[in-house]
Amino acid sequence: MSELLARHRAVMPNWLALNYNEPIEIVSGKGNRVVDADGKSYLDFFAGILTNMIGYDVPEVREAVERQLATGVVHTSTVYLLRGQVELAEKIARLSGIPDAKVFFTNSGTEANETALLLATYARKSDQVLAMRQSYHGRSFGAVSVTSNRSWKNNSLSPLNVHFLHGADRHLTQFRGLSDADYIAACVDDLRHVLATAVSNDVAALIAEPIQGVGGFTMAPDGLFAAYKEVLDEQGILFISDEVQTGWGRTGSAFFGIQDHGVTPDVITFAKGLGNGFAVGGLVARGDLMDGPHAVGLSTFGGNPISMAAANATLDYVLDHDLQANAARTGAIIIDGLKEAAKRLSVVKDVRGKGLMFAVELESPAQAARFMEETKRAGLLAGKGGLYGTAIRMAPPLTLTVEEAVEGLGIIVGALETIDAEAA
Ligand code: PLP
Repeated sequence: MSELLARHRAVMPNWLALNYNEPIEIVSGKGNRVVDADGKSYLDFFAGILTNMIGYDVPEVREAVERQLATGVVHTSTVYLLRGQVELAEKIARLSGIPDAKVFFTNSGTEANETALLLATYARKSDQVLAMRQSYHGRSFGAVSVTSNRSWKNNSLSPLNVHFLHGADRHLTQFRGLSDADYIAACVDDLRHVLATAVSNDVAALIAEPIQGVGGFTMAPDGLFAAYKEVLDEQGILFISDEVQTGWGRTGSAFFGIQDHGVTPDVITFAKGLGNGFAVGGLVARGDLMDGPHAVGLSTFGGNPISMAAANATLDYVLDHDLQANAARTGAIIIDGLKEAAKRLSVVKDVRGKGLMFAVELESPAQAARFMEETKRAGLLAGKGGLYGTAIRMAPPLTLTVEEAVEGLGIIVGALETIDAEAA
């Protein structure tokens, strides 16, 4: 065990999961690669858990943060006007597609979801919330209670009344063999049944991830969210789209993942990639919801000038370089390549994803662990996950080049071939 790992184990809780049999310390990064303390370089296909959205050591971001630091203005209080906040809010409101949208900044995705839940439950005067099976929304009381993944919620005493709907879990026996249309009809039937039987009064909101991140990049079929939205609208139930992983063009086909489904949500929550490594989160919601008498609040560090400088520079970079199109282009190379390889590799149970958010489903958690070690050895970082611990999740920076996409695909397929040969 390395000296740093021993010190980590001594002072950090044992539930803090570390990747790899021999966890690594990353000491620097440039472009889409990082370097560990032993000097080994890796193509980063997990981007720090989707946080380094435009890669490492980006001059535009570094200079924006340095300019802000140089002013000596690091006053974090929200009781003064902050230009960077207003500018970022204007951009996000416009991009959200939500009419009369207003924005509130937090420091993390958890806080963003907690605020969205506070807003919705106050606005609707109800503690009843709908969420999706296999979801992950964060580590606060509210966020944990809408999380549907035992390993993440097993210490929660939920303050909310939550009912979980079907979405990406269509592998269950009862749904096997159904066409998309029949599956969606079954899900809508279930939603109506939940609303008629399981709730004790009006329901505040449905919170959903367009692609489930921690759940293993699992996807509900096209049309499901729109069908749910129709039912929710009948009862004035709000739709919260958790875009902590799917925002900013990552899916290639939409700027926010839910836009792919033709649904305009009432609230979008965001975090992770926006600050390219600097902590920033928030929510964008219908103005009438945000402006309600219930919505009084502040966040001491939410929207602080340093995070705003990083986030404005990052978002401008994404837009100026049309990284959504790049995600579509480079993601297609990898996803198509993986689907092709899967035809001859029996250990690969599924390949799924959109843009630069894609996953490979293996047969067992042991194979997933093996994949992590093999790709690490070959110089690529990935993420393990999914409800059953069998999914390999990959989400490189949106700046990935075509050459890096081809290189990464080669490493991934090589690792899968090794595991396939071992399983034979
Ligand atoms: N929502 C989703 C979809 C996430 O993936 C995460 C984190 O992984 C969160 C919320 C929580 O965000 P944070 O870890 O910034 O609190």
